[in-house]
Amino acid sequence: MSDEKRFKDYWSDISEKQQGIFGEASLDGTSAMNEYNQAKTTVTPDGLEIRVHCENCGRQPAVTAEFPELIAIKYGLQPHVAYGPLIAQGRKILQGQATAWGFDPAKKMWFPDAKCSGCGWPVRPLISVGEAEAAIRAGQGSGWIPLAVVEQLSKYCFDLKSRGG
Ligand SMILES: [Zn+2]
Repeated sequence: MSDEKRFKDYWSDISEKQQGIFGEASLDGTSAMNEYNQAKTTVTPDGLEIRVHCENCGRQPAVTAEFPELIAIKYGLQPHVAYGPLIAQGRKILQGQATAWGFDPAKKMWFPDAKCSGCGWPVRPLISVGEAEAAIRAGQGSGWIPLAVVEQLSKYCFDLKSRGG
């Protein structure tokens, strides 16, 4: 099924039920999240690029989880909270803005609070801790993030988590 076809089906389904985009489906997250699980991921010099399907405009915007964000996730920390103090000190941890992340306890997966670059619709691709770890290893292996940085940030996150952060 093409994305366009799938998009139309989704849209007509919503219209029939008259529940709107933020109706039942998004309350428990299951229906909407199934779509996000089909996201394609690629490790790039910037981090883990996740291509998602925007349910509003049908585009396939890319959302990038930067390597430092993936390291925080590996340690079970919200990246923007974990690095907040460092960023406040003026340290350049992330290339982009510190995106807020959420955790889906049922699926045990993380998702960035991202928006479609085409239309601004919320897109929330789910990634697992295993995916984050694999992307960090791949980025390190390709020389896209230096081992010293991985070790430094890992220690920072480990210490923060140990203190209950
Ligand atoms: Zn969109």
